[in-house]
Amino acid sequence: MNSIVIVGGGIAGLQAAQILQSKGLDFILIEKSMLLGGRVQSESFQGYTLDHGFQVLQTAYPEVQRSLRLSKWDLSYFQSGAYVLQDGKFKPFLNPLKSPFLFLKNIRSSGASIFDLLKLAWIWLKTQGSISPITSHPETTSEIISRYRFSEKFQRIFLRPFFAGIFLDDQLTPPASLFFYYMKQFLEGKAALPKHGIGDIALDLASRIPKEKLLTGVSVIEIQEKSLKLSNANTIHFDHLVLATDPKQACDLLKIDFPENAHFSSKTFYFSLDRNLETSLPLIHLMPLNSSPMLHFSCISQVNPSLAPEGKHLISATSLQIEVSEEEIAKKLARVLGLSQADFTYLKSFSIPHSLFKLGCFTEVCQKAEAKNIILAGDYTLFPSLQAALSSGRKAAEKILQDL
Ligand SMILES: Cc1cc2nc3c(=O)[nH]c(=O)nc-3n(C[C@H](O)[C@H](O)[C@H](O)COP(=O)(O)OP(=O)(O)OC[C@H]3O[C@@H](n4cnc5c(N)ncnc54)[C@H](O)[C@@H]3O)c2cc1C
Repeated sequence: MNSIVIVGGGIAGLQAAQILQSKGLDFILIEKSMLLGGRVQSESFQGYTLDHGFQVLQTAYPEVQRSLRLSKWDLSYFQSGAYVLQDGKFKPFLNPLKSPFLFLKNIRSSGASIFDLLKLAWIWLKTQGSISPITSHPETTSEIISRYRFSEKFQRIFLRPFFAGIFLDDQLTPPASLFFYYMKQFLEGKAALPKHGIGDIALDLASRIPKEKLLTGVSVIEIQEKSLKLSNANTIHFDHLVLATDPKQACDLLKIDFPENAHFSSKTFYFSLDRNLETSLPLIHLMPLNSSPMLHFSCISQVNPSLAPEGKHLISATSLQIEVSEEEIAKKLARVLGLSQADFTYLKSFSIPHSLFKLGCFTEVCQKAEAKNIILAGDYTLFPSLQAALSSGRKAAEKILQDL
């Protein structure tokens, strides 16, 4: 009997495991944390549900549609677009493909010129058909936005902060191919929040795997020839190994230096509020880059009321600076919303130094794994997203099925 080991119980590892399970194969999944889900976690706190970092589920992702049983989920949706800050006031800029009437109603105050809209329409047409996020593209996202000559205002209030929020990179260094890919997903799909938080994704995948195949709270500390040394002093044999850890751990285990500047950090703060915001549409609020320590915020209980207790509202605010304090964020929230700082009750924050990883930085680890016949899975092997985590997990499972 071939023994199969999956290391890492994030979305990629869970996806590989549930596919092997559906094919009736035996395996063990080893996860260092007591909780499954990796970077996709939600927790209950004083009656609120807090996600570890602001995350949305893009329903247009092909692998999301294929792997997650979305029809059984109670999803809530953000409206497509954003509140943009103009002359000290938030104005809605809406996706004309999704909300044509509201878009037309708000078009004059949205800050987008007719040329900006024509350019967006051109990009949308350009992205029809299948589009790969990882084709090599000579330009960065920042460069392509400049080359398209969107108006300075539209870049400042919408495009740049919107994409900085997706990439968690205010320099917009990811390649233009990724910009076009995400643009298509956001124009055509919906950004959803599961009823009990983003952690529902991990719970759904994990529920398809028998408990006895999941070893949590144990980490792999060394990869040897056909065996793994575990933190509980045991050694486990493998014939097939899926290494579905984050790339830092993959580099450590394969004895490769973790590339410098290959990651993006973020910190998400949660506050409760007793009143509803005046900006009552279920939209994210964008802050122009460099105008604030906060990149964006939303009243996520306006999108999904089950995230907050009855009569309370839950604000999620994200910064790219880990050292920012909750006081600074509350002060800024109060100023831009015309409220008092005392209106915001701080709940909790989540600092995630390795939130996302830079595309194209992990060739060495991929080559070393291949040379050792180790199958890598994880978003960083493709591009940073749930789509990539799910897809890499599927590819890993398919590789094993092929090799058996
Ligand atoms: C703040 C934030 C916002 C995001 N926003 C979005 C979004 O809006 N939309 C989107 O699509 N994606 C988003 N993402 C990305 C998405 O969360 C990731 O792409 C996905 O979770 C990656 O899953 P993974 O399985 O590849 O890696 P991970 O989640 O990192 O899983 C790796 C697992 O391996 C385990 N592990 C590590 N080392 C060992 C070891 N030695 N032994 C055993 N186990 C080990 C870890 O504990 C972890 O559970 C966001 C991520 C963050 C952090």
